[in-house]
Formats: sequence, C-alpha cells, structure tokens
Amino acid sequence: MPDSMKLAIPCSSCFYLLPDSQRGLNAPRPTYLRELGNTSLYDMTCDRGHQQRGWLANHKFEILFESGIKALKDEYYREAVTSFAVALERFYEFSIILLLMDNFFDENQRLRGLDVLPKFGKFWSKTLKFSERQLGAFCSLYISEFGQIPLLFDDSELRNKVIHAGYIPTLNEALVFGEGVNKSIKQFCKKYDEKDVGRPYKRATYVQRVSIALDGLKLKSPLITADYGHMTKVSLFVDATVDSYFNGSITIADYIASMPTS
Ligand SMILES: [Zn+2]
Repeated sequence: MPDSMKLAIPCSSCFYLLPDSQRGLNAPRPTYLRELGNTSLYDMTCDRGHQQRGWLANHKFEILFESGIKALKDEYYREAVTSFAVALERFYEFSIILLLMDNFFDENQRLRGLDVLPKFGKFWSKTLKFSERQLGAFCSLYISEFGQIPLLFDDSELRNKVIHAGYIPTLNEALVFGEGVNKSIKQFCKKYDEKDVGRPYKRATYVQRVSIALDGLKLKSPLITADYGHMTKVSLFVDATVDSYFNGSITIADYIASMPTS
C-alpha cells in the first residue's frame, strides 16, 4: 500500500515574518505535514515552533482527487481509480450544498437561522447519505438551477470492475479515468462560477463552511469556523474556487511530471 497521503500545511506566522515582497502562495514553504484526516480542523506546530489552529478551505473531493493522483504517481492504479471515483461522489455532495446555499445563508452571508444546518444535517444523515440518492438530488437541483440536464461522466464500467471485481487497471486506464473525472468536475465548476457573476458572493467559497459545520454536528460538537482559528489552503491540483483551475488546461500527466520525486 502507498504511504498515506500527507498534506503540507503552510504556517501563517512564518508567512507574516517574511517581507511583503517574498510572500506568495508557496512562500514560505509549508513546514508542517499532517496525515490526510477526515476532518478539516487541525492543530499544528511548525518547524520554528509556531502553534496554529485552523481549518482547511480545501474541499474533501479535492483532497481525495489529489490522493488519486498520488496513487497514480506511485503506480497503485487500483487505488487511483478508487480515489477518483470517490472524489466524484464527494463532488456531487459539494454541488448539492452549493445549489442549496440560498436556503442556508441570506444575501449578507448570514445563516438564515440557528436550526437550519442542524435540520439539514439530520436529513442528510438519514435520507441523503446514499450515493445513488445524492446523485438523484444533484441532478434535480441542477436541472432546477440551469434548466438543463447535467452531462454526467459515466464512470460505472471501470469503477465497478475495479471496486467489485478486483480488476487491476493499467496506467493508461487509470489516467483516462482520472482525466474523465477531472474534466467533468471542471465543467461543472465553470458553470457554477459563471452563474454566480453579480451575486453578493460566490457560492463555491461558502460550501466548506457548511461542510465543516455539518461535520461538527455529526461529532455532536457544533463548530462555527470563525471560532476555530483561521482559514488555510493547501495547494492542490483541483480547486473548485479558482478560475485558473476550471479555465486552465493542465493535465494530470503534466501535474505528475511537475511533482518532486519522493
Ligand atoms: Zn511558523
């Protein structure tokens, strides 16, 4: 099995110690490696001893997709296909929350009521937790929002062979599969972004807050992100909130070629 994926989290204290001219997306270099966890909240101590508590703005599906890329790079093609397939499922979850955003927040980005998310969280864990139902909910919401049927990436054939029949895909099969998922996610992110031009805020930038609040409710400790330190973002291949991702043309193969050899 490949090493579990680690996320390199940058330290904001180190960031502010640098002069303005030297600060950038990857400067200073991230100094803290955290295991890929199931929660977006973290506590860290950087190499220089700064302590930091915060939450990651990267969505779960983006992290799972990165995990697929890493498996591909390490020549674990079954694991790569599985991660890409699960990333796509989690992307539908992301999309459902995005398309329902106006039910959660008003135009001033304020929650529409303290019970809105707990009620939705209950509904989600009882009724919407199954991936087939999520796909149905996503398609309905999408048709309602855009007046057209979503163009879905049909991943079922290879996915079922790999997950249910123990099939070992080739590098090329895994790469083509990953690119199919990537293209599909990109196309939807672009549509969401275009639809939000002129809105008071882009819905994609608020999904993670809702996801974290829902995670907190599941853990029975309601967490408001504002109370949990500041937001940090790790640089990943997929980023639903930046147009350089969904308007860009970098392929998974290009990205792997640019990664440092470990
Ligand atoms: Zn630091």
